[in-house]
Amino acid sequence: MTHWLWLGLCCFLSAPSLIFFERHEFMKKEPFYASPVALVSDKVLLRNDKFGKGAFGASRGNVRHSRTHTGIDLTAAIGSPVTASKSGRVFFAGDDPTGYGHYVEIHHPDGLLTRYAHLTQILAREGEWIKQNEPIGTCGKSGNANGSGIIPHLHFEIRYKNQPLNPGSGLLDPRVRIQ
Ligand SMILES: [Zn+2]
Repeated sequence: MTHWLWLGLCCFLSAPSLIFFERHEFMKKEPFYASPVALVSDKVLLRNDKFGKGAFGASRGNVRHSRTHTGIDLTAAIGSPVTASKSGRVFFAGDDPTGYGHYVEIHHPDGLLTRYAHLTQILAREGEWIKQNEPIGTCGKSGNANGSGIIPHLHFEIRYKNQPLNPGSGLLDPRVRIQ
């Protein structure tokens, strides 16, 4: 009986180092977040229309309900592919009619999550594992990006413990230029 207890104790004590090792291996394999939309000669183009700018932290809403932009808006044609920025597990694939529209949320082994919003079509399923650069949907104008003056774009977010992070500050692949 005691050797089972010892085995249990060993497993329990080695779990944190196994998790650390797995995370370390993942970070080595995928150090950066890839662009979730196709590049236009090494660049992603940020949205810039009269309803808003695509930069992280840009102002949104009116004076009474002022808030800042929690992601980056990458311009892309309606129906063009949206791909997973890093490998991970699809945590949510569904609808938020008044905000994100059709959107996908992926949880990554590095502890961060990504969101891909205003999609036309969702190709990923909740619970499935997705590899980096695999298609998860198509770009569109669903949710609050539906207005006619709003340029079609992908709203892309990276969060850690629910706090939005700026993808452009060391997270996105440095080979991708944001313009
Ligand atoms: Zn946005």
